[in-house]
Amino acid sequence: MAFRFCPQCGHPLTLRPVGDEGEQPFCADCRRFFFDNAVPCVLVAIVNERDEVLLLRQAYITDAPTLCSGYVKNGDTLEDAVRREVLEETGQQVERCRYVGSWYYAPKGLIMAGFLARVTACPFASSAEVDSLFWEDMTRAQHIIARENNLSGTLLDACVSLLAEDHS
Ligand SMILES: [Zn+2]
Repeated sequence: MAFRFCPQCGHPLTLRPVGDEGEQPFCADCRRFFFDNAVPCVLVAIVNERDEVLLLRQAYITDAPTLCSGYVKNGDTLEDAVRREVLEETGQQVERCRYVGSWYYAPKGLIMAGFLARVTACPFASSAEVDSLFWEDMTRAQHIIARENNLSGTLLDACVSLLAEDHS
């Protein structure tokens, strides 16, 4: 996110040279730089003991079903964010999670870290951000999952390849 005003004190930022980074926005009052960093998020394929994936309907994002996602809070590790978002949005307890890969989502300036999380299916939580949840087998999930302006399908495809390696 590129700042024009200091997010801490509200004063206009000025450009100041720093190291190899060229000129970067700087607050003369707070004495710190505000770099144009991507916003970190996690995207999580939640897979149960029957190798089904949990899909979310979230009308505020897209009509097609998506995977669980959320912002990384200050103080979180990526794994903390995975466990918290999965619990908040779905009620599932992550037993183990595995990093799959990362993708940059240009429309919102997000860097999305993709994980495969293993759970034992338990009752769904209700979240204001989620309209409904359902388990789906991988093949059907790959057909119906959100792929337009959304990275859910990309992560799911990567997870299907990983799971196939696990079983070979
Ligand atoms: Zn400031």
